[in-house]
Amino acid sequence: MCPSLRPPEPRQVPVGRYPLWDEALAAVNRDLAATVPEQRPLRLTVHPERADLDEQVYVALSDGEAHGNPLLPNETAAEALTAVADAAQETVSELLWRAWPVCTVHDLGMHPRDVDGRPSWWCAGGSRRGDPAHVRAAIGELATVHRPHRPNRKRRKGGTPH
Ligand SMILES: [Zn+2]
Repeated sequence: MCPSLRPPEPRQVPVGRYPLWDEALAAVNRDLAATVPEQRPLRLTVHPERADLDEQVYVALSDGEAHGNPLLPNETAAEALTAVADAAQETVSELLWRAWPVCTVHDLGMHPRDVDGRPSWWCAGGSRRGDPAHVRAAIGELATVHRPHRPNRKRRKGGTPH
């Protein structure tokens, strides 16, 4: 066994080195928790085989595995959020073999898109007329449209109160 053949482990990026990406990742992790609660939070990693180049940061699963391209520098929080959501989508969909996140109205994978300056999850909509593309939720706010199922929810139906 030659130890040098073992692939090096990706390194965790220290919190605070990239504040815009930290903030963006926290929002994307809220969406992940709302939609795939069994998945542990994503994190930012640096892959050591690229250490000779400028630091290349990836959005990785909790085990450090990532897919797709490294993040590029962002000027604004909104740009960072769209970029991190895009990278998170690539990693989650490729490594977990599932469309993510999914619009529960149309059962379609959504995409991060800047809509009037607000980073949002965009759905292409249905194929029928009158069912156009739409924004499902702002990135970081999918919990507002993925409410937990509450089977004991009481109905107000004009019954006599006790
Ligand atoms: Zn939709």
